[in-house]
Formats: sequence, structure tokens, C-alpha cells
Amino acid sequence: MNKKTITVKRLPKDPGPAAWNQVLTQVPGYPELERDIQADWLIIGGGFTGLAAARRLAQLVGDERIVLLGAAQLANGPAGRNSGFMIDLPHELNSETYAGAHEQDLQQIRLNRAAIAFAAGMAQEYAMDAKVFDPCGKTTAAGSDKGIAHIESYRKHLDALGEPYEMRSPTEMKSWTGSDFYRLGLYTSGAVMIQPAAFIRQAANGLSNQVDIYENSPALEITQGDVHLVKTPKGQVRAKNIILAVNGHIQSFGFYPRQLLHVFTYASMTRALSQDEIKRLGGVSDWGILPADPMGTTVRRFSDYRGSGDRIVIRNHATLNQSIEANTSNMKRAARLQDQSFANRFPMLEGVEMEHRWGGRLCLSWNSMPAFGEVETRIWSACCQNGLGTVKGTLAGMMAAEQAVLGQSELLSLFLNHQQPKQLPPEPFLSLGANMTMRWKEWQAGIEL
Ligand SMILES: Cc1cc2nc3c(=O)[nH]c(=O)nc-3n(C[C@H](O)[C@H](O)[C@H](O)COP(=O)(O)OP(=O)(O)OC[C@H]3O[C@@H](n4cnc5c(N)ncnc54)[C@H](O)[C@@H]3O)c2cc1C
Repeated sequence: MNKKTITVKRLPKDPGPAAWNQVLTQVPGYPELERDIQADWLIIGGGFTGLAAARRLAQLVGDERIVLLGAAQLANGPAGRNSGFMIDLPHELNSETYAGAHEQDLQQIRLNRAAIAFAAGMAQEYAMDAKVFDPCGKTTAAGSDKGIAHIESYRKHLDALGEPYEMRSPTEMKSWTGSDFYRLGLYTSGAVMIQPAAFIRQAANGLSNQVDIYENSPALEITQGDVHLVKTPKGQVRAKNIILAVNGHIQSFGFYPRQLLHVFTYASMTRALSQDEIKRLGGVSDWGILPADPMGTTVRRFSDYRGSGDRIVIRNHATLNQSIEANTSNMKRAARLQDQSFANRFPMLEGVEMEHRWGGRLCLSWNSMPAFGEVETRIWSACCQNGLGTVKGTLAGMMAAEQAVLGQSELLSLFLNHQQPKQLPPEPFLSLGANMTMRWKEWQAGIEL
């Protein structure tokens, strides 16, 4: 076989701490790869996608050697820094109402539910409790007339899909969240809320007796052959098969050029609330809200989990950074917006500071399609999760393992019914246009932000 070498152009950089991981008790992680090893299967990337691929491979070819490489600590990447909503229903971030086309939506719901069932299997097998994996459903909520109009059109879309929901009145929203801000809520039951870093850690721990995991071991180079050779800073892996589970960084491996949008979104987490502040806030101890307007603010309140304390997390703002790096001015702007959103929703918590602020990568495509398939002989890409990686990453990981081992399956034939990510407009028009459009949509979102 022709020995082509792929040099990895860029390694991931994640701005700020992965706060969900930071608030957990620190435990020893996995070793760095410091020698030469062999594997039947090498998974590069240990987020939702990589861990799902590892688990599906362990189910299908458990007697073969499976190795997983993470560029940093697994729970410090985007998988450990997201808002933790595993959503079964269509959730197109670049649509006005999260909705897509009808047939596509029905197919997506089926696939998303298969992925959530797979994740639920992990939660059960690896003994995750309800603070880590809570099948409590999700609430989309609005605080303005505009937001209510978004909920109304989302509701019509759910009617058309035959999906049940329950409406929540302002009084119900207040007794649930403690905040007067929300004027309408729409609850659906199929979503799961996770503590994302705890989920990643516990999933990795559960898999670690079947999969050899190495952290702080980025893949730097792949030389293709009958057995591929993958170099890391201090070691190398000779692997028959490779699954690339690196989301947007698939482009750093040279694949899907000019087809992927690298979007950063940002979040802040309060310090632990005091007993007096918890009392002043009111409401229940754990809840999460998705914004009615896709450009609005996601909020989560969570109660103490193994010493984390009770805290609130606020997420909003999005920027397109085709360099796959966010800068300090992006972070500063996000911090300003989040402080305002927090003050709008929680005036009773005036003076509560944000202890952690961070940003994280999403990878989208223009037509919301994944970057999936065999990109070179026995090298599969399971990337581009279009902003919903908890679910779509889990699905892509399962599907990559099934495609590589089985060639076909019922779920795979449904999943493969998609197009390739569309070519993007050229720079600088793309970045200027996309960032201007996002700023405009944020402005239009008004107090939903
Ligand atoms: C603030 C925020 C909130 C979000 N909220 C949600 C939400 O509520 N629900 C939801 O579904 N999604 C959410 N997301 C998106 C979600 O986090 C991502 O879609 C998801 O993490 C993608 O999963 P993944 O496993 O495909 O990729 P990642 O989680 O990005 O994992 C890929 C891993 O590959 C590693 N890697 C990259 N290059 C290399 C290399 N050369 N060698 C080795 N390893 C490498 C990276 O270090 C990374 O750990 C949010 C994201 C952010 C930032």
C-alpha cells in the first residue's frame, strides 16, 4: 500500500477551564503514551463520539485490542464543558425554531433516541446516578413576547410531528426556577440532563477494563499502511483500523477542507451558593432551561454533587472562529453578556460572582450534515456533530464502529441517508458574514439573551 503520511496541522485549544470537571474532586487520570504499542482499533478523541465508538467496538469485537488517545484530559475537552442537554427532538441551531424538514426530523428523532438509549445503557452499566445522568426531559422557556412567539411555532412543529409536550405557566416556571423571568415554558419528556464531565469520566472509567486509554497524548502524524502508524509526542501506535472522533479537528487531519464551520460558544458558572442565597433564590434544586430563541441563553442550576456546591451555569454568545481558536475579546464579550443575562434572571442573587468562565468548540456544517465515513482505507471519520454532540456524537461513534465492523445494520442504513457537508463560501466573506449575522440575531433575541 502507498505510504501516505498525514501530519496533524493543529491541536485543540480550549479557552478557560472545563468548569464541570473543575468542580469535581480531582482523581488520577489515564497515563500518557510513552512507548510503542499495537492495536486492532485506535480511536483518536475521547469525547462523546470516541467513548461511544469504544463501547460499541467493545460490544462487537471485545476480544480485539482497542486503544483510545485523547489530546488532553478527556473531561477537559468540549465534552466536559457543555451544558449537558441530551436532546431527542430536532435541534437545528441555525434554524429560527430548532426545526428542520418534516421527514428529516422524524428520522433524526429516531436516530437521536437510539443514541440516548445507548448512553442510558452506559449510565446503567457504569452505575451513574441521577446527578450524572437524569432522564428528566427538557424545558424550553421564554421571557419575552418574541420568545413566546418562538415557543408557539415550536409547539406547532411538535404537533405536526405528533410529539407530546406540556405547557408551563409563569407561576409554574417561578416555583420551579425561583425566577420571575420566564413567562412560558414548554416541556418534553425525552431528553436527558447530564453532568457532562462526570458522564465522560464515569464512561471512560467503565470502559477502561476493555479499552486502553491514554490522555495528554495527541496524535501528531498518521502514516498509512496495511497497519497504520500513529505518532504521539512520546510514543506510537501501530493500528489496523482508526476512528477519528475529533469533531472539528478532523480538518486539522486534512479532511473536509472548506466544509466545516468552527463555532465557539461560551459559559460562566457561579461560585457555590450559600444557604442564604439558595433560600433567597427559591425553586427546586436542579433544573435546566433551553432558550426559546436559539440565540438566547441556556441556564442550569445544579445541586451539590460530591462537594461541587450548588451553582448556576449561564451559556450564550457564539462566534465563528475558522482558526479553531477563540480569542480574549471573544471571552470578554461573552462574560459581559452573561453577567447581564444572570442579572436579568436572578436579581435576588445580586453580588454572586462567576467563579469560572470558559468557551468551547462546536463544529457545524452549512447543511447540518455530519462529516462521516471511511476517509482513507480503514480510517473512519465520525465528526461534525452540528452542536448537539452529546447525542449526535454518541450516534456517530456507534455508527462508525458498526460501519467498520459490520459494514451494515438497520440503524446504519437510516443514519447513512445523509449528504456530505456542503462547500462553504470563501473567506473573508464567510467569517465576516457569519459573525455579523450572529451579532444581528443576538441583538434581535433581546432579553432572551
Ligand atoms: C458551552 C457549550 C455548551 C454546549 N451545550 C451542549 C448541550 O447542551 N448539548 C449538546 O449536545 N452539545 C452541547 N455542546 C456541544 C458539545 O459539547 C459538542 O458537540 C461535543 O462535545 C462533541 O463531541 P465529540 O466527542 O464529537 O467531540 P469533542 O467533545 O470535541 O471531543 C473530541 C476530542 O478529540 C480530541 N482531539 C482533537 N484533536 C486530537 C488529536 N490530534 N489527538 C488526540 N485527540 C484529539 C479533543 O481534545 C477532544 O477531547 C456545547 C458546547 C459548548 C462549548
